[in-house]
Amino acid sequence: MLETVTFTLGPVQTNTYLVADSETLNAAVIDPAWDGHIILAEAQKRNWRIAHLWYTHAHFDHIGGAGEIANALNPLPLVALHPNDHVLWRAEGGAPLFGFKIDPGPEPTIDLYQGQILRLGSVEFEVRFTPGHTMGHCIFYVAESKVCFCGDLIFQNSVGRTDLPGGDWNMLVNSIKTQVFTLPDETRLLSGHGPETMVGEEKKYNPFVGESA
Ligand SMILES: [Zn+2]
Ligand SMILES: [Zn+2]
Repeated sequence: MLETVTFTLGPVQTNTYLVADSETLNAAVIDPAWDGHIILAEAQKRNWRIAHLWYTHAHFDHIGGAGEIANALNPLPLVALHPNDHVLWRAEGGAPLFGFKIDPGPEPTIDLYQGQILRLGSVEFEVRFTPGHTMGHCIFYVAESKVCFCGDLIFQNSVGRTDLPGGDWNMLVNSIKTQVFTLPDETRLLSGHGPETMVGEEKKYNPFVGESA
């Protein structure tokens, strides 16, 4: 069964999700935003083994804790990112543009793609390719638990910005409509910033992409 611990970390209050399979205690970090030691301490407390880092996209505020986590683990965690965001990863996720310096950790070696299944024990995460906020943005959907980790694609009453390099408004809207609004209404959306919401709520009330937009 999927277990999730949420942290809000770093200079722009980014949500990190530490996820694990309750039977095998295998764990992954979805978007290790900042302060890797806080995430590590929680995993240690629960006896969870972090073997993977999964990135919705490569902005610095979603990967700033990766180096610190990786430095404490042996073997190194495997890092998964869509290839379209590799250039952004190499640029430290744009950190220098915002006056930050990060340790981006190990190079991504797992290329995410639409329809890919990532596994923690018996828990399956379906990868959905959702460009628009960045060119390689992806979300992770766990059908069994009715939950979707959706990064900076969509937020409660808002959507990801598209004014940074690689952003594209039409692609963002298309990604939300084809990859999020096609999920069951009762699916929980765990975003990269802000509180959680639900597919049905955003379909109706999201001021940018909802029915009344
Ligand atoms: Zn972002
Ligand atoms: Zn963000």
